[in-house]
Amino acid sequence: MFTNMDKNDLDAYAQRIINGMQLSEDNLREILLIADSTELEKLHYVARKVRDHYFGNKVFLYSFVYFSTYCKNRCAFCYYNTMNKINRYRLGFEDIRNVCRKLKGEQIHMVDLTMGEDPYFHENPSQFAKVIDIVKEELDLPVMISPGVLDDDALTMLREHGANFLALYQETYDKELYRNLRVGQSFSERIHARQFAQQIGYCVEDGLLTGVGNDVGSTIISLRGMARENPQMVRVMTFIPQEGTPLEKEVQESNLSELKIISVLRLMFPDRLIPASLDVEGIEGMVYRLNAGANVVTSIIPSDSSLEGVANYDRKHEERKRDPKSVVAKLRSMGMEPAAQSDFNKILGVVA
Ligand code: SF4
Repeated sequence: MFTNMDKNDLDAYAQRIINGMQLSEDNLREILLIADSTELEKLHYVARKVRDHYFGNKVFLYSFVYFSTYCKNRCAFCYYNTMNKINRYRLGFEDIRNVCRKLKGEQIHMVDLTMGEDPYFHENPSQFAKVIDIVKEELDLPVMISPGVLDDDALTMLREHGANFLALYQETYDKELYRNLRVGQSFSERIHARQFAQQIGYCVEDGLLTGVGNDVGSTIISLRGMARENPQMVRVMTFIPQEGTPLEKEVQESNLSELKIISVLRLMFPDRLIPASLDVEGIEGMVYRLNAGANVVTSIIPSDSSLEGVANYDRKHEERKRDPKSVVAKLRSMGMEPAAQSDFNKILGVVA
C-alpha cells in the first residue's frame, strides 16, 4: 500500500487521515499484512505525522500502582489467574500512601490504580474508594482505575471519589477467541461497564491483545469493535507467555505485530491516547512504540519499586529503568517532552 509512495505521498496520506478519511476493510487488511520492513517504516512515519499534528512532541506519562495481585478469574493468558499458584500481595493503605510519596514532584500526569478482580475490593468497593482518596490526598492527580468489571453502583461511587478514567480491556471482539481468553467471563457485561462509565463521566480505555491466535480477520473485528465504543484511549499489547498459565507453551509472536497495530490505531483513532507500555519490552520498547505513533508512556513505577507489572517482561531483571526520571531522559533523547498537566486535564474534561 505504501510501497510506491515517496515522502510527499506519505505526508498527503497523513493529511487525508487528519481530514477525516476512514480506513476501509481492504485498507486495514493490506496494512495488517505488511511484512516488508521499508513499507512498515513508511506506515510508522505516517502514524507519527498524524500523532504530531494533534500532540506535537508532547507525551503523557502514567504511573502504575498494582495494588492487589489477587484475582478470582481464569484468563488463559494471565500470570495472575486464580489457578496459578504464585505469591500474591494486597497493599495496605499505608503502603499505597508510601508509593504515592515516592512519586511526589515527578513528571506524572495520572496514577493508574490496577488490581486483579480481587474479591476483597469487589465486595467492599468503599475500601477501593479509600485507595483513591489516598492518591488524591498525596498527589492531587487524575486517577485511572483498572479494577476489572465493577457494577454500576461501584463505578458511580468511585467516580464520586474522583476516579477519572476506567481502563477495561476487551482483549478481543472476536467472541470465540474471547471465550478462550477470558474464560467464564461475560462479553457483554464488560462492554456494559465501559459504556456505563462513559455515561457517568469517566474517560475509558479499551485494549486488545495480539499474538493469541488473532489472525488478520479477527484483528479487524477487534479494531472495529473498539471503534464502535469510541474510547478516549486505545491499547494493543503483545501476549507474553506466562509461567503456570494455560498458554504458557505458546510461542510469542513478534512484537512487530504490536507496532503495526499501534500505527493502525493511530490512523483509526487519530486524536486519541495510545500508550507505549514499559511492561512489554522496557524502555527500549517504549522508543519503538512511540516511533510507531503512541503518545502516552504507561507502567512507570518509582525507582526502587518491587511492585508487579502486568506482563512483566522484567520480573527477573535487576535494573528496570521504569522510573519517571529514566523515562523523561529517554524521551528528551528522542526530541520528545512530557506534556503540560493542563493539556492532559483538557482531555479529561477536568477544570484545574
Ligand atoms: S487479566 Fe485481569 S481479570 Fe484476568 S486473570 Fe488476569 S488479573 Fe484477573
